[in-house]
Amino acid sequence: MKPYPIHCVSIVIPVYNEEQSLPELLRRTTAACKQLAYEYEIILVDDGSRDSSAQLLEEAAAEPGSQVVAVILNRNYGQHAAIMAGFEQCRGDVVITLDADLQNPPEEIPRLVEQAALGYDVVATVRNNRQDSAFRRWPSRLINLAVQRSTGVAMSDYGCMLRAYRRTIVDAMLACRERSTFIPILANSFARHTTEIPVHHAEREHGESKYSAMRLISLMFDLLTCMTTTPLRLLSIVGFSLAALGMLFAFALVIMRLAFGADWAGDGMFVLFAVLFVFTGGQFIGMGLLGEYLGRMYSDVRARPRFFIEKVLRNQPVPPVPPAVVVDGLVSSRASTSPSDQVSS
Ligand code: UDP
Ligand code: MG
Repeated sequence: MKPYPIHCVSIVIPVYNEEQSLPELLRRTTAACKQLAYEYEIILVDDGSRDSSAQLLEEAAAEPGSQVVAVILNRNYGQHAAIMAGFEQCRGDVVITLDADLQNPPEEIPRLVEQAALGYDVVATVRNNRQDSAFRRWPSRLINLAVQRSTGVAMSDYGCMLRAYRRTIVDAMLACRERSTFIPILANSFARHTTEIPVHHAEREHGESKYSAMRLISLMFDLLTCMTTTPLRLLSIVGFSLAALGMLFAFALVIMRLAFGADWAGDGMFVLFAVLFVFTGGQFIGMGLLGEYLGRMYSDVRARPRFFIEKVLRNQPVPPVPPAVVVDGLVSSRASTSPSDQVSS
């Protein structure tokens, strides 16, 4: 891992009805950024707040010499969409995300930048004294376990949004056109070197969590579908298992019937069960097959980049890229070799 040269650091903060936290957030974040040896910008994305958050942000951005960039969305799109909107506007070599409610102390920013400068693609954090209710902690624990199982990336705290991402990772995430997404997991799928550092976690001082039970469920589905389509495949597996069990059951019934006579078989009741199992299994297999097609369509529709090239190393000088040729409105990168080859449009 090579050290990563940094010129500019961007801080991206989604804001939804946080007018009470904003003044302190701006003060503490600016103070933390001033300690950095790099240029910085603080991008605050107003996610359709109904209080005066957007106005406060506009004022902060309008101050002379302000490093604040206010991005105002027309309505509420959700935390992760708001962060994506911030990513689109930022220009830093390292991009740091954090929450606006001051649960993630901005004072940790220099430590994250320090780790990113060492060459990590993603610097994650673990809340070492998490200040949330058990109702919030247990789902998180389950999620962490599921993600570790299915992505193989061992990170212990996906719920903590205080994270640093290298520019290339942010660009790769921006190239994903899907609407619902879960940023920490998406980032991990493009990262090579990741690390985790323990950070402090404070209680929410103003307002309340923007996640109701329903929104949490929706977030969990975003998280699940963002990383895998395995649940669809589970349908086929359940189907095959049920059908196989049904067959085994029927086979056992025939043997028992032959061994113990017609009385034992309960007038064919058990046979009905066996038949039912096989048919139910068949239905699940059918659904699983549909799921397989659906999963592939889902992958195609969200059009994530097929791969993410970190860098290309070659010994030979790069041949000049042939100029693009416009053929009936379509751009082709094939250069025509002779003027007669050129198609006029
Ligand atoms: N947030 C947002 N849009 C939303 C919900 C939340 O931009 O629809 C922001 C919110 O202002 C905060 C961050 O996302 O900066 C985390 O939200 P919250 O603190 O409510 O989540 P929790 O800490 O309870 O997980
Ligand atoms: Mg919070």
